[in-house]
Amino acid sequence: MLPSILIVEDDQKLARIVRAYLEGADFRVTHASSLAEARTKLDAETPLAVILDLGLPDGSGEELCQDIKALADIPVIMLTAKSPEEERIAGFALGADDYVVKPASPRELVYRLKAILKRYDTAVTAARPLSFNNGTLILDSRRHQVSKSGQALTITPTEFKLLFTLASSPQRTFTRDELVSKALGYHFEGYERSIDAHIKNLRQKIENDPRRPEYLKTVYGIGYLFCGERDAL
Ligand code: CA
Repeated sequence: MLPSILIVEDDQKLARIVRAYLEGADFRVTHASSLAEARTKLDAETPLAVILDLGLPDGSGEELCQDIKALADIPVIMLTAKSPEEERIAGFALGADDYVVKPASPRELVYRLKAILKRYDTAVTAARPLSFNNGTLILDSRRHQVSKSGQALTITPTEFKLLFTLASSPQRTFTRDELVSKALGYHFEGYERSIDAHIKNLRQKIENDPRRPEYLKTVYGIGYLFCGERDAL
């Protein structure tokens, strides 16, 4: 089941309208009318995103926004009657992803929500580790780490870039020239052969038998390619 959008809003009429629009856009919706109720819902399920009213009967939504952001990287859209610029800036400082001023157009709200979710999805996909052969080899691009059978490897930034370039397109042959420009970031005649030295070092680190590589294969006369079964995450 798809995670829901949590609406935290004590104005029942507005909450009903926003819910109707979100459900019309195929989102699942849960609703809380107070901070306390919102916290209970958050404990029960991590939502896909939160639409958060600032003025709630038992406190300010700002507090909850901070707590949500501390808990997980969930998009938060603040909904408020207050509109001065300082308030808006304060909202962003608390980690809100967007800010919609009441009277809110539900259509605009849904539109903004979709835009934010798309942005998050792109960021998550880009940051997702590359995992191969049932987790035997994992490349974490966010931390620039490589692990083999659960053991973190010591790897240089150049080696990481080189391996990441190859592993991002398994089974694609890269010429040394391409690898120089993608991994070393500069192009200079004569540097093509330095790729060989980096590959040799990488094989020592990631292959079970560096002389019979399973991951980093040589394509004679051309360059290298990465073999590995990408795990579905
Ligand atoms: Ca309110």
